Amino acid sequence: MTSSSSGNIFMVVAPSGAGKSSLVNALLAEDPSMVLSISCTTRPPRPGEEANKHYRFVTPEQFGDLRTQNALLEWAEVHGNFYGTPRDRIDEALEKGLDVLLEIDWQGARQVREHFPQAIGIFILPPSIEALESRLTQRGQDAPPVISRRLLAAGSEMSHASECQYVIINQEFSTALLQLGQIIAAARLRYGVQAVRHAELFSQLGISKTVA
Ligand code: 5GP
Repeated sequence: MTSSSSGNIFMVVAPSGAGKSSLVNALLAEDPSMVLSISCTTRPPRPGEEANKHYRFVTPEQFGDLRTQNALLEWAEVHGNFYGTPRDRIDEALEKGLDVLLEIDWQGARQVREHFPQAIGIFILPPSIEALESRLTQRGQDAPPVISRRLLAAGSEMSHASECQYVIINQEFSTALLQLGQIIAAARLRYGVQAVRHAELFSQLGISKTVA
């Protein structure tokens, strides 16, 4: 984030099946000013997924080209497929002072922090391993070997939860959604963010633009 932009970057990180996408979709429905980053992926679309809405579905060759062109802010291999965040949409949103939300894995979150140390990490945990397993099985979108692979990967993803500043335990959906909104609301009220967003007022009132 540049000093002239007041947009925040929120990274929502979770193992598959923790309910991250449902939470993010509900949040976006309540907060249309938040810009969702549409990732590129080499994973095939799941039933019901739409190109350029859920993901930009690309071939491994196209993904390689995007990497070579430095068009990705971050990228990672997750569950045997490549995923990456296109840089242009993020830069454009932040320049306009809009907040951006990224749904990415821990490897991507690390890379984003290198570019934007102020990026805010929110980790979504399931209430138990059993709940995670039953959510993955019940959504019926993935084949059994894919589910097994994702369950194995869940432990590894969760071992990186401590790299995020915030943790939400998604036991009760409405509570988790409320908590996600509260984290975002609090982040928007940080001194440095308010000082940029309300620069004129801060000048008029003669108060510092930087937190002491
Ligand atoms: P899914 O295939 O279930 O949609 O996503 C699998 C994993 O890839 C999830 O942990 C998701 O957060 C992660 N993911 C989705 N998009 C990106 C991205 O652009 N970058 C990174 N690093 N991970 C992503």
